[in-house]
Amino acid sequence: MTVTGAIWRDQLTADERATLGRADNVAGGARPDVLVVGGGILGVSTAFACANAGFGDVLLIETGRLGAGATGGATGLLIPEPHQWSDPEPLVDLERAGLERWRDLEAALPGGVGLVELDWLGLAPHAGGFAAHQPRDIQWLNPGQVAELIPGLARPMEGALIHRQARVNPLRAVARLAARLPAVATGVAATSVEVSGDRVVRVGTSAGGISPGAVVFATGSPPVLDGLQLRVPSDRVKGHLLVTEATDVRLPGIVAPLATQIENRQLLAGGTFDIGDETPAVQPDVIDAIAAGLATVLPSLRGIGVAYQWCCFRPRHPDRRPVIDRVPGLANAWLTSGHFRTGILNAPATAALLARWIAAGVPPAEARSWSATRFAGH
Ligand SMILES: Cc1cc2nc3c(=O)[nH]c(=O)nc-3n(C[C@H](O)[C@H](O)[C@H](O)COP(=O)(O)OP(=O)(O)OC[C@H]3O[C@@H](n4cnc5c(N)ncnc54)[C@H](O)[C@@H]3O)c2cc1C
Repeated sequence: MTVTGAIWRDQLTADERATLGRADNVAGGARPDVLVVGGGILGVSTAFACANAGFGDVLLIETGRLGAGATGGATGLLIPEPHQWSDPEPLVDLERAGLERWRDLEAALPGGVGLVELDWLGLAPHAGGFAAHQPRDIQWLNPGQVAELIPGLARPMEGALIHRQARVNPLRAVARLAARLPAVATGVAATSVEVSGDRVVRVGTSAGGISPGAVVFATGSPPVLDGLQLRVPSDRVKGHLLVTEATDVRLPGIVAPLATQIENRQLLAGGTFDIGDETPAVQPDVIDAIAAGLATVLPSLRGIGVAYQWCCFRPRHPDRRPVIDRVPGLANAWLTSGHFRTGILNAPATAALLARWIAAGVPPAEARSWSATRFAGH
């Protein structure tokens, strides 16, 4: 039987599941030092970073449950190094900083955040398949070396091996961080903003008005709220994923573009880019194509059962880079959005940047790359 929904929730403990629905009482007229709107990985990480930066009173509100958006459907890969082939340098820097901070969190939090260290192996019919740019810390494997790591490939492949990448169950990471937040209110939506001069003086929510010292919008895509003048173009790109039934095929970590070895002898595959598909439903033909792709590369996977299938949407800006900025024209409101395909990876570094900015009042130098006003003319 195939479950339609992400595997991540089923891997959680009862306590972790309960944390995703944490619903502390929000007193009408609350005045937190920092209000974070949005309980995906960016919002939870930002609230955590602000609490650790010494803001005593940090409140996070989320309209559904924590991780209900893109976060809960992500693959959860933390792989900055392969992105050197695809992403601009400032983004790779952010991604690298993200993985380092995930490792810090894993070490610092009792019980960690569920980080799993693993290798990344990219397959290509020939080494030229990786283009001229040769990233650092790569070990090039000939077809014989690849076959030793992955016996039974349909045809000989060259490989690019990168050690010490990682992954998380994104919902576990959210739950572990959220359990340590001062205040979390799920089931509470921000609906409006009241501005006086250059300051947000009140955020209207489904639980009443909140008057924060500072507010961070981490709503995946830019927030659409009454009273908030914000023009940042964005769209979203759907992706499908599946988890196989248990198999004796064992992969040496993340094997691109094949699959990732996860717990219980299962494989996680997919991460399609279904441009133009705006429907929220899983498309069986896309799942079939992912499964067929597995068997094409590794014939022993032919006919493997699908245990979980799901889809979700990546929030994206036109240049595929995130926004991490103060809301233009406002002194005490910040925004992070459009983390597209690396939001889980980027989250702790983005959060640290925002916490520093809010505490100091001046933008850190690296914020320049992520401005909300760079889309003028779109
Ligand atoms: C198929 C797929 C695979 C992916 N794989 C990876 C991967 O391997 N590694 C990686 O790093 N990234 C990956 N991503 C990308 C990653 O999922 C996103 O970049 C990231 O989850 C974005 O997080 P977020 O917190 O910004 O948004 P979200 O997770 O969408 O969170 C935003 C939250 O804000 C809430 N919200 C919105 N409006 C309001 C409001 N008015 N009031 C209160 N709450 C509100 C929403 O309910 C939502 O929970 C993948 C994405 C997809 C779709």
